[in-house]
Amino acid sequence: MGIKLSIAQASGQRYIVDLMLMRLGRWLRLMGQDVANPDAASDREILDKAKKEMRTVITRDRRLWQSCLRADQPCILIASSRIREQLLEMAGAGLPLRLEPDRCTLCNGPLRQLAGDEREQWQCRICGKLYWRGSHWKKMERMLGEISSRG
Ligand SMILES: [Zn+2]
Repeated sequence: MGIKLSIAQASGQRYIVDLMLMRLGRWLRLMGQDVANPDAASDREILDKAKKEMRTVITRDRRLWQSCLRADQPCILIASSRIREQLLEMAGAGLPLRLEPDRCTLCNGPLRQLAGDEREQWQCRICGKLYWRGSHWKKMERMLGEISSRG
């Protein structure tokens, strides 16, 4: 178990994930969070980008976490390498575990809801990827439900 810095209210913040947590980053976007990918792998660059864009760093790297503490930069240290536990750790930091079609999982672009059709659809304003509440969506909702009930 690692040390975790819990923050009272994680919801509605902007984040940046490190390279080890890109998958978690995609999940967080599905939950409507604004999550940037790092432009580079170095701690310095992640920290600089986080500062400049006022993002909370999410990392599994203790050294980066310590650099953040020293720089007075909000940071969440994730202990687990497994996505379910990682999501549970985010829930522990105050993030509600529910899907929110608001952000593109690929590029973090904002989604817009498409009119018309009987099924709800969303499209990324930047890369054009389409989203809808299909079986994949339901599977993920189920997984979040399971994780929530464990927490
Ligand atoms: Zn996109």
